[in-house]
Amino acid sequence: DEFTVMLTNVTDEIHASLIAKDILARLAQSYILKGHEVYSSASIGITMSPADGCDVNTLLKNADMAMYEAKDQGRNTFRFFTSEMTDRASQFLEVDKDMRMALSQNELEVHFQPIYTMRDNKLLGVEALLRWQHPQRGLVLPSDFISVAEETGLIEEIGMWVMRRACSEAREWLKYNPDPEFYLAVNVSMRQFKGGFDKAQLQRLLHETGFPADRLLLEITETVLMDDDARTSEVLTEFRDMGVRLAVDDFGTGYSALSYLRKFPVSTLKIDRSFICDINLSSSHRNLVEAIIAMAHGLDLKTIAEGVENAEQAELLKELNCDMVQG
Ligand code: MG
Ligand code: MG
Repeated sequence: DEFTVMLTNVTDEIHASLIAKDILARLAQSYILKGHEVYSSASIGITMSPADGCDVNTLLKNADMAMYEAKDQGRNTFRFFTSEMTDRASQFLEVDKDMRMALSQNELEVHFQPIYTMRDNKLLGVEALLRWQHPQRGLVLPSDFISVAEETGLIEEIGMWVMRRACSEAREWLKYNPDPEFYLAVNVSMRQFKGGFDKAQLQRLLHETGFPADRLLLEITETVLMDDDARTSEVLTEFRDMGVRLAVDDFGTGYSALSYLRKFPVSTLKIDRSFICDINLSSSHRNLVEAIIAMAHGLDLKTIAEGVENAEQAELLKELNCDMVQG
């Protein structure tokens, strides 16, 4: 389903883009397939010779990178190859290589961020957060490497590593914190579900680490819940039946369809930090957070505000009846 078009009499980039537009328009016309009217679209990557390269392999590789950029930009469009694309591609490979090394060299760490109740300022739980102590770059934050790990699939291994490490460490704390409500929150990515993360895997991990299922809360993103896969729903229900709680992470940044909240056994909504950071300054964010909290309570869900960094934010969130804060 990939085609190469070689144009030998193109004058400049404008000329090339006019031809690309024409190809897109022709492909967008519907046609009849086995009695059904179907539509298709295309993504086009363009590279120019001799400016971008002179040999077949280089030009095909360039066009391929530009095509993926076009797909990323929402498809049905075209992109020209630029040298930054090569930089990005080599950076990508570099991060992937470094990360595999990090896993085997024990450069990854789990940090724990406390979660407090608003009503009585009680330490209710912790979220396990991944950090990378890079030998040259120092402390690297997940935003700089998780997307690469998601794309290469390494996130499956990393995700399980974090869960294992967090569970064995938190099990020790349970001895000193007898509060029966105290829990550990761990992030699970879409890729892990696609890779077969299920009840059997989770049970094995909990058995090996000795961590009780009813103290575990798994944080999943809206994309996992929006995925129309019957298996996801089945797996989440099995987790719930084991006593594991489920929270929707980064709530408010993904899709707006809320019906999934009824469909899945979630117990908690985590309001994304982007709404919290300027809650004292932006009345629209304040109203939005207030509405999310009211809706969550109406559905019998608890709310956690993420990224709370000062007393004013905490005070306001208390006024808005938010259940818990972290940050
Ligand atoms: Mg999280
Ligand atoms: Mg979050």
